[in-house]
Amino acid sequence: AKELVQFRNLETHFHTSSGVVKAVNDVSFSIREGETLCVVGESGCGKSVTAMSLMRLVETPPGKIAGGEILFEGKDLLKLSKREMARIRGNDISIIFQEPMSSLNPVLTVGEQITEPLMLHMLMSKKEAKKRAIELISMVGIPRPEKIFDSYPHELSGGMRQRIMIAIALSCDPKLLIADEPTTALDVTIQAQILDLMRDLKQKLNTAIMLITHDLGVVAEMADYVVVMYAGKVIEEAPVLELFKDPRHPYTKGLLKAKPVINKKTERLYSIPGQVPNPIELEANCHFHDRCEFAMDICRQKQPPFRSHGNEKHKTACWLYEKEGDA
Ligand code: SF4
Ligand code: MG
Repeated sequence: AKELVQFRNLETHFHTSSGVVKAVNDVSFSIREGETLCVVGESGCGKSVTAMSLMRLVETPPGKIAGGEILFEGKDLLKLSKREMARIRGNDISIIFQEPMSSLNPVLTVGEQITEPLMLHMLMSKKEAKKRAIELISMVGIPRPEKIFDSYPHELSGGMRQRIMIAIALSCDPKLLIADEPTTALDVTIQAQILDLMRDLKQKLNTAIMLITHDLGVVAEMADYVVVMYAGKVIEEAPVLELFKDPRHPYTKGLLKAKPVINKKTERLYSIPGQVPNPIELEANCHFHDRCEFAMDICRQKQPPFRSHGNEKHKTACWLYEKEGDA
């Protein structure tokens, strides 16, 4: 499939009183049309900041996109005016977050919140927008959509609210849907229902999805492609089956082996010993070296190149796969 989004050497920094945090540190990967790409990693690895950079929502201090390109259908989003970018956000790219209550307006009915963007971006009349809103509510699997149309967010359950967020996100018929931990705040049964819904809708609408998660169960169920991030960098990338069958990077192997420790508050799901390094003190070496049981001298001195080692679609950044002398 054709590439819809290409991150090229993206650098997103946060300027803090103790130094510059390189939240996204030379990140490159692509999302293809109609594909679900999962970005996986622990809290603070840069996965949400990558998505926010794509939406151009890290523009005010302390955040800054310090380098690189984000091509959307070949156009660099970082070069667009605020107005052009707003148009892309309303028409081509939508985002849903973990906690729908904070994105919904509590004083407006569900119907008002779905029809408003339809009138604004799709230039529909009020009547057309209402008809379309009711179609969208029923498309996300909510029975009696007319009744929900007149409800307020607080009258709905968490799962229903996330369905409404998905309906709003899909109302502009986007080419890309970004979903940042969309099911993390929901209980397990509802989680499964929302994931089913997203999968169905993707099939039906052929929307590409960038799904951000720390949950490998979600990855296994949803992903076509997987990008693994650690300390601001992509350390492995592969088609989902390949990644689960033949993980290369010791961190990815650790994620797959580790027992989940359910702790939603901290997103610390994995029992890989050690700590993520302080993002202010990152050196140009392998950022995983302190936690890696295979660490060699070179790992502490030089950054491993991110590239394929045999299979073209499978890339990793680890000295274990580099031949001696390449260093
Ligand atoms: Fe471990 Fe070295 Fe590979 Fe980093 S580069 S993951 S420290 S073996
Ligand atoms: Mg996050």
